[in-house]
Amino acid sequence: MNNAELTARSLARVWNPCTQMQDHEWLPLVPIRRAEGVWLEDFDGRRYLDAVSSWWTNLFGHRHPHIVERLKAQLDVLDHVIFAGFTHEPAVRLAEKLCAIAPAGLARVFYADIGSAAVEVALKMSHHYWRNLGQPQKTRFIALTGGYHGETLGALAVGGTGLYRDAYAPLLMQPIHVRSPDCCPMVEDGRAPGESWEDYSRRAFRHMEQALERHAGEVAAVIVEPLVQAATGMRMYHPVYLKLLRQACDRHGVHLIADEIAVGFGRSGRMFACDWAGIAPDFMCLSKGLTGGTLPLACVLTTDAVYRAFYDDYATYKAFLHSHSYTGNPLACAAALATLEIFEQQDWLAHNRRNGQLMWNAVADLSRHPQVAEIRQQGMILAIELARNPERRQAYPAEQRRGLRVYRHGLERGVLLRPLGNVIYFMPPYVIDIEEIAQMAAAAIEGIQQATRD
Ligand code: PMP
Repeated sequence: MNNAELTARSLARVWNPCTQMQDHEWLPLVPIRRAEGVWLEDFDGRRYLDAVSSWWTNLFGHRHPHIVERLKAQLDVLDHVIFAGFTHEPAVRLAEKLCAIAPAGLARVFYADIGSAAVEVALKMSHHYWRNLGQPQKTRFIALTGGYHGETLGALAVGGTGLYRDAYAPLLMQPIHVRSPDCCPMVEDGRAPGESWEDYSRRAFRHMEQALERHAGEVAAVIVEPLVQAATGMRMYHPVYLKLLRQACDRHGVHLIADEIAVGFGRSGRMFACDWAGIAPDFMCLSKGLTGGTLPLACVLTTDAVYRAFYDDYATYKAFLHSHSYTGNPLACAAALATLEIFEQQDWLAHNRRNGQLMWNAVADLSRHPQVAEIRQQGMILAIELARNPERRQAYPAEQRRGLRVYRHGLERGVLLRPLGNVIYFMPPYVIDIEEIAQMAAAAIEGIQQATRD
């Protein structure tokens, strides 16, 4: 097998996600044969540094020996078992460990298989909680503009990114969209020059407060991506917003759903992004890094108060009847347990503080580049926003696909830098070393210089 053969066979039969397939008439599809650490390798022996952790899933490098060992051992014992009426040790131990590291008060784990499914679970559970408590009119959700929560219809509905949402708008429930606290200087009427992230995030909260005042009676929950609106372009805001939001949700009798699918497990610089604000949500959605990037698994952590609202005689029909065939898959749970064990082996948060600083230093000079509107960072996420004219808040038109030019240059230089529109970002596995950071940054800097030349 070589690159050309597998690519041809793939294009003949496979439909890839999040892709205009026609692009592959001129844009090479990259067939990967194997992976190790931060490296992916194709069939012709070319290597690519996985600077995006394969859609933000990988934490400790591909095929981490500890995860591989635990997965193989699990495969020898139990592959899968129905999770209704039955339970198993990996799921129980994982639930115990997750509750031990999660923000205080999150004491129950409901498993699902993908991030979007976890969001569906949280939305349904929140509404159903209020229904069980005699408030069935709480049917709506408040969400932020620029948010992203997945592709299934419920998750897509509470997303606020037109690119993914618009085509399906007629199919979707209507959330109440509130203006995001996004601190990027490219935002129209956004953060004033010199205004701190904290001041702006506080100021932006008034939109949320107004929405809650007006709609709390019909709203089940507010859903947010804490601190980083990832899919919309790694747009960031200050933890004070989460603090204010927690207080306001309590005041108005509305749940708070924290979608930590992208930012959980150390990515934000703390174990969970909510930890930056010292808050506990009513529902916390986890996936992606949960298994260290090996297998699909997701879960929703919630409180005993929520759990108790469903706990009653069968005939009251209060039970949460949501299910997925692969709920709590033992192999995925074993991979997740192994991932949490790796967290226990050393202080990865301290390690990432150094890594984060190295990533920043490696691209800091770009802040003087005339087409760089902003370099922003939250823990192990660093984003570089390109713009035609940053002073005038003029973005590059999407159809110019400037980010894609950086992507192509990255591939030539052996670095996978999948952009989000005009935003180039680093979100590498935590095991990346100093030389690899330098290589990743050099590819991005050169790519940005070429992509912004005309
Ligand atoms: N929420 C957030 C914040 C995400 O970033 C994503 C995936 N990019 C999802 C939900 C959906 O997860 P999945 O792709 O596993 O369905």
